[in-house]
This record gives sequence, C-alpha cells and structure tokens, in this order.
Amino acid sequence: MLAEIITIGDELLIGQVIDTNSAFVAKQLNKIGVSVYQITSVQDNKAHILKALNEAEDNADIIILTGGLGPTKDDITKRTIAEYFNDTLVKDESVLNNIETIWKQHVRTELLQVNKDQALVPSKATVLMNKLGTAPGMWMEKGNKVFISLPGVPYEMQALIEYKVLPKLKDKYHCPYILHKTLLVYGLGESALAARVEAWEDALPNHIKLAYLPNLGKMRLRLSTKGFDEHLLKKEVQEQIDKVLPLIKDEFAGFEDEEGSVEIVIAKQLTKLGKTLAIAESCTGGTVAERFTINSGASLYFKGGIVTYSTASKMNVLKVSKTDIDTYSVVSSQVAESMAQNALKLFQSDFAIATTGNAGPKKGDSDAEVGTVFIAIATKKEVYSQEFNFGNSRVKVINKAVNKALEMFLK
Ligand code: ATP
Ligand code: MG
Repeated sequence: MLAEIITIGDELLIGQVIDTNSAFVAKQLNKIGVSVYQITSVQDNKAHILKALNEAEDNADIIILTGGLGPTKDDITKRTIAEYFNDTLVKDESVLNNIETIWKQHVRTELLQVNKDQALVPSKATVLMNKLGTAPGMWMEKGNKVFISLPGVPYEMQALIEYKVLPKLKDKYHCPYILHKTLLVYGLGESALAARVEAWEDALPNHIKLAYLPNLGKMRLRLSTKGFDEHLLKKEVQEQIDKVLPLIKDEFAGFEDEEGSVEIVIAKQLTKLGKTLAIAESCTGGTVAERFTINSGASLYFKGGIVTYSTASKMNVLKVSKTDIDTYSVVSSQVAESMAQNALKLFQSDFAIATTGNAGPKKGDSDAEVGTVFIAIATKKEVYSQEFNFGNSRVKVINKAVNKALEMFLK
C-alpha cells in the first residue's frame, strides 16, 4: 500500500514554518505498513494543489493532505478538493455544532459567517470530526483510492490521524501490524557498536530488520518487523532483545519507544527515588534544563537551572571562586565541578549537572580549544567531571554536550 502526503501552505514554501506534519504522518502510516511514496509541499494555490492531487492519484493509493482548511480567503484546500471531485460544498450540521461549541467555550466573541462556513464540506466527503478545532477532517474515496484532508495545525492533525484516520485505514486495507523497538545506546560509536553486536546481528531472523541511527553522541538501534500476529511478533523481538542486551549492557540507556528518551529514563528514576536535580549551564545555554522541563511531571524532581554564561556571572551568581577561574581557566574541570556543587547548594537538590565549554566558532572567554566542554556531576557526597572535544560546529557541540551530560548522569 502506497501513500502520498501533500502539505499545503505558503508558510511552508517560504521557510517560515517547517513541515513537521509530513514526518508525523509518514511515521504513523509506517506503523500500519503503508509506505510513503512521495511528500510534496505546495502553496495555497488552486492550480498547484490540483496538479499535486493529479500526480498523487497516479502515484499512490492513499493521499493525505494537511493545511489550508482555515476560515480565511487564503485557505482554499476545501474548495479545490470539491472541484477535483466535481463536487459542491454543503453544510454539515454536526460540524456546525462543533464550531458553535468551541466558540462558546474558548472564543466567546460573535461567530462570524467565515467561521460558520467552516461547516461546509464536499457533499461526497465523510467528515472526520475535529473536536480540537473548527476545521473538520474529510475522507473522500475515488475508485479504490482514498483522499484525506486534515487541518494544518499539528496537534489537531495528529489527533485526527491517531483516532480517526489510522483506524479507518486499518479497517479498509486489513493492514499488517508493524513493530519497532528502539534501544537507546550511549557512549559507543556506530562502528564500535556494530562490532560488539556483529554475531547477534548475523543470526537475526530474516523478517527482523536492524537499523543503526546515530545522532550526536547517542545511538539508536532499531529492530523492526511486520506481520499479522501481534503477539508472536512481540515475542520474537523480545527474544532478540534479551540476546543483545548483555552485549551492550553498560551502554544501554532504555527503550526509546516506551521511555521516549534518556531524559525520561532519568526522570522516572529520580521520581521513583524521590530525589531532585539542579542544573548549572554555560555553553549549553539552558538546553540541558529544557530537555527535562519539556516533559510533564518535571516539577516532581527538577528543582531549577541557571545559565551563567559570562565569567562574571559564574563568579557573582554561582559563586565560583575567582582563584579557580584565574588558576585553571573558566573552561576547566575545576570550574565545572564548582558550578555543579554550587548549583546543588543553591537549589538544595540531591544531584546537579554542570556544563562549561567553548562551542565556537571562535575562542571565547578562555583559551580553550573550540569544542572543548567540561561536564560535571555533583551529588551531596562527591563531584566528578570529564573533558570532551565535540568538534567545531557550534550546534553540534551544544547538542553533543547536552546528550553527553545526560548520559554521564544516567551512569
Ligand atoms: P486553521 O483552521 O487552524 O486555520 P488550517 O487547516 O487552515 O487550520 P493552516 O492555516 O494551513 O491550517 O495552518 C495552521 C498552522 O499550522 C500554521 O500557521 C502552521 O503553524 C501550522 N502548520 C500548517 N502546516 C504545517 C505543516 N505541514 N507542518 C507543521 N506545521 C504546520
Ligand atoms: Mg494555511
């Protein structure tokens, strides 16, 4: 089964908004065994949308469109689809009710005609009710092909995919079950990891595929398989995991699919132990803290973070001693350790993580080589640190430092 995704919106074509909808839809389709043949982004332009629809109909069985369903004149997807299907727009009472309910609950101003017009849908369409917004999803069929039009707002589109589109597609096409299991591995490069698991990999059954996904200092090892017996697939994959885990024991950080990421693994452990964390950052500028606070429940263990970027604020705010800075440099293990210990005291936490380094591209407040980063971990009893060099691309240095800090903490 093949799909094509068409994302619609001028904002995508001028680079103002990054098309994350396609990635989400592709990932979800993959889960039910549907491969994506092509992803296209087009402007809010009738001729362009029609052209994309024509081409998609040649390419794929399932065509999913997102965007352009808003109330404003520039949003023309619905009218264009109606034209493509030689159809007219008719009022759908259930959609109108939904719009009125949303208006009463969240907007509270007068409902304008343009908003009421969002209840117009092609007469041949099956409405996919969007409880989160005023633009409904629409499902239309032409021969054995399906066209699905969804709002552009990511969380509205995501909910519709998950609760309306996937179940309907599974029903229609008797899709197989796809299983991915992703192991997070820290501290081993791709080739070192491959060497470690070589014998196991060679003995994998044919229908279980293995992929290496390196990403800035962390590795993901993904096992994938598909079939119709969900129970059996899970059992087979679990058997392989049981075999590979002893080979990567020290470097294994958790399962991405369930845990989400290493910070979630840490979060769960801290919450379980009733322990707290504080963070002091320099070169990572708050991104270590963000990795924790972006997930709900952070208040249970995350006490706070501080970004002391300048040398002066390291001394004035975080009370790093001037002697240490003068003796060892602001990018040094002594300063990283002092930052971690002082953050621990400042926030009265059980643990603290600190980063100090030079992300480049030029030398900053110290003589440290570009890419040098010191990461320190403090507990109430001890403190330790490690020196790294993460190369000379600023974004990479920062991301690698964040991943490394989390990895060091986990261990
Ligand atoms: P609405 O009724 O909310 O206007 P809509 O279907 O008209 O829904 P758009 O106006 O096209 O949606 O997009 C709304 C917002 O959703 C955009 O401003 C953009 O931020 C986001 N968005 C749209 N398309 C995408 C996409 N492909 N990837 C990520 N975000 C998107
Ligand atoms: Mg739009």
